[in-house]
Amino acid sequence: MKSFVAATAALKRRLGARVVLTDDASREAAAYDSAKIPFRPEALVRVRKEAEVGVVLDLANRYRVPVTTRGRGTTLTGGATPVRGGWVLDTLALHTIRIDEESGMAHVQAGAKVGDIQRAAEAKGWFYPPDPSSKEYCTIGGNIACNAGGMHGGKHGVTRDFVVALRGFLPTGEFVEWGTATKKFSAGFNMRDLWIGSEGMLGVITGAVLKLIPQPAERWTLLTSFPDETKALQAALALFRLRVQPAICEFLDRESVLCAERAMQTTIFPGQAGRPVILLELAGSKSDVRELRATLLAWAAAHAAGHRVARTRAEAEQLWAVRRKCSGAMFELGDAKLNEDVVLPMRSYVKFARFLVRLKRESGLHVPTFGHLADGNLHVNIMYHKAVPAECRAAERAVQRLMETVVELGGAISGEHGIGLAKSPFLRIQHSPAQVRAMQAVKAALDPRGILNPGKMFERFEVWKHERLVVQLPWDHK
Ligand SMILES: Cc1cc2nc3c(=O)[nH]c(=O)nc-3n(C[C@H](O)[C@H](O)[C@H](O)COP(=O)(O)OP(=O)(O)OC[C@H]3O[C@@H](n4cnc5c(N)ncnc54)[C@H](O)[C@@H]3O)c2cc1C
Repeated sequence: MKSFVAATAALKRRLGARVVLTDDASREAAAYDSAKIPFRPEALVRVRKEAEVGVVLDLANRYRVPVTTRGRGTTLTGGATPVRGGWVLDTLALHTIRIDEESGMAHVQAGAKVGDIQRAAEAKGWFYPPDPSSKEYCTIGGNIACNAGGMHGGKHGVTRDFVVALRGFLPTGEFVEWGTATKKFSAGFNMRDLWIGSEGMLGVITGAVLKLIPQPAERWTLLTSFPDETKALQAALALFRLRVQPAICEFLDRESVLCAERAMQTTIFPGQAGRPVILLELAGSKSDVRELRATLLAWAAAHAAGHRVARTRAEAEQLWAVRRKCSGAMFELGDAKLNEDVVLPMRSYVKFARFLVRLKRESGLHVPTFGHLADGNLHVNIMYHKAVPAECRAAERAVQRLMETVVELGGAISGEHGIGLAKSPFLRIQHSPAQVRAMQAVKAALDPRGILNPGKMFERFEVWKHERLVVQLPWDHK
């Protein structure tokens, strides 16, 4: 701790008191992310220039100060929480965006907001598909570090599929560039892909080149309802067997729909309250959409209990309301939510639906579930009341059972949020000892002093032993 104080004084001398903030309010604001498990840093370092990142890491190595890189702090895993104290490196001031119209690439700095990147691309007729629900808050640096996904994942892929090149600093403070702004790059190890999804543990990203695709000319939205979850999931499999690739294919189970309907004070299909739904969007050229529309309508007639087509953009927005409302509305079922982002192979969908029925019965908790059916990424929301110890214990057991079952079914414990602190107890359910050792060896090679985001991923963090803050963040209930 003493050396942290000396190191912070040295950093202040190098970068100035306007960059290195040690007042209580700044340290408090940087103490937690959306997992709301607080650990105070020694300082919040708001870099204004890329080169300052190198200075921070160089000094951190010399004094062995932990450094936790932070975008907007929307991660739900505790990944941006400075669990070992030290410095929180804030990247928000690095936020330039430039669209290269010829090559269809975006040159961005790490702190740029994802929603701003999408708008800048669209203004030039291009489209950046990865769209986390938090896109109006989160940064591209955070998205790359977590390999974020979104509703377009099934058709277009996740952040990894759009990163052409990266720049930034190794944990030792040396500047590096992984790849160039070209469509091909096969010169040496693919360190770019190693950094993507490394959760701020292998380097600090300061900039990226992103691939864009042409903006679709036409969109078409269809909402379908089903008698139960199993029938909905079987219908989705039937759709994929037709080789149809919707741009979006979102599933909401009965509990999620009920929450949304109560929030909207209406039922989506008259007389069919709480029916599981699949919301589909086609996107592409006018002729492609026209052709697929007929296939989708025939599929809906054969499999769905009801369906509604949006004839205008305004009607599409109305259909989308059910998806947008459901997540925030779940808090009527409990004041705490474990928002898990598991991934299932499609062949396990029906078995997983049956498992969720058992999980709800055995835990006595509400577990509304929704997610992206075209890439198997389901958001399982375990709802409980913080002040009720029996519910907390039930939620703890439920999340353990969930992770074990997902891996037994051939799936993944996280599809887009990452491991951080919250999922560190489950890493070894997913990975064998040899796999964990290989990852630790990479970490040790790149970060010999262990300064970058220590205490995450590999160390079993006892989440349930830590108080979670009761604090309202701007993106809560979104
Ligand atoms: C309401 C809500 C909805 C969400 N919806 C989605 C969703 O649909 N899809 C999805 O994938 N996620 C979603 N998330 C999770 C979260 O928004 C993403 O993980 C996002 O990528 C985090 O970005 P951030 O800028 O907030 O990063 P932070 O939370 O600040 O950091 C996240 C991790 O990235 C590291 N990091 C941040 N910046 C850098 C950098 N420049 N270099 C190296 N490491 C860095 C941090 O150390 C940390 O480990 C949601 C969260 C909320 C609260």
